[in-house]
Amino acid sequence: MKLLWVQAAGCGGCTQSLLGAENRNGVLAQLAAGGIDLIGHPGVCEASGDEMLDLLDAAADGGLTLDLLCIEGALLRGPNGSGRFQMLAGRPLIDWVCRLAAHARHVLAIGTCSAYGGIISSGDNVGEACGLQFDGDQEGGLLGADFRALAGLPVINVAGCPPHPGWIVDTLLLLAADTLRPDNLDAWQRPRFYTEQLVHHGCPRNEFYEFKASAQQPSDLGCLMENMGCKGTQANADCNLRLWHGVGSCLRGGFACISCTEPGFEEPGHPFMETPKIAGIPTGLPVDMPKAWFVALAALSKSATPTRVRENSRSDHPLIAPGIRKSGKK
Ligand code: SF4
Ligand code: SF4
Repeated sequence: MKLLWVQAAGCGGCTQSLLGAENRNGVLAQLAAGGIDLIGHPGVCEASGDEMLDLLDAAADGGLTLDLLCIEGALLRGPNGSGRFQMLAGRPLIDWVCRLAAHARHVLAIGTCSAYGGIISSGDNVGEACGLQFDGDQEGGLLGADFRALAGLPVINVAGCPPHPGWIVDTLLLLAADTLRPDNLDAWQRPRFYTEQLVHHGCPRNEFYEFKASAQQPSDLGCLMENMGCKGTQANADCNLRLWHGVGSCLRGGFACISCTEPGFEEPGHPFMETPKIAGIPTGLPVDMPKAWFVALAALSKSATPTRVRENSRSDHPLIAPGIRKSGKK
């Protein structure tokens, strides 16, 4: 399958993430093993200059059928809808993208910018940035809500800022194997294999969460939900189960989850590392949990917090080790 990767308005972090895919032979070998040939990428492929333009022309005119079209970065419609804020070979990039998408069997938005607008669309959005098929949480975007690629699927949003390399590679391999169906996408058109988990699942701070033993400041070991802005109990992603580079995640690095896989994450209305509260209760509560239950459970948990858990939660290293069970004790 022929894969063309186009970079629109972004930081390039999604490509950087992709290059971190774990495979001892590298990501290109991993894709090749699935029958995928990366025929064009501004940073990774040899084709450049006239050779690349010929390839783009052939694909945009339909002379070359693209199996997989990956767009990284938001689409700039400005100024005044002309798209001239980002030009490629004399044309607005958004024109290229529309023409390429019309001849692609599958279209993938790689990263939250390409999916929903992301960081690039924040603030006054003077660039008129949007996603391929969403403008924030509104359907539409550059291609329109009714767009379907030649194989029948809407834009597949591999959202994340950046997405985990495994999300990108697994999505591409599923498409190569012709096993990704419309009902395998969630309400935001993200592959459900990574969004039917919460970031909270597998977080090493779970014991602190259970007792609402919360970090008071950056570097504390405690749960980051109550004070430090963590949205892991609401964020759809498997970041603490499918670790980054086999070892890491935002939480494991000491940072709150800011739910970068969802539209609008870039402007939460409060500092990323602070938890907004009303009457001392976080406004963003765990999904699937009624507020009254959370309040009751939190009060009970706090009253039963073991000294070890409470003390360790407020330190940057464990102060008290867990007790040792006596052998054979029931
Ligand atoms: S830090 Fe966030 S993800 Fe980790 S246990 Fe607390 S709420 Fe869950
Ligand atoms: S932990 Fe949260 S902020 Fe970090 S990559 Fe995963 S979804 Fe994004």
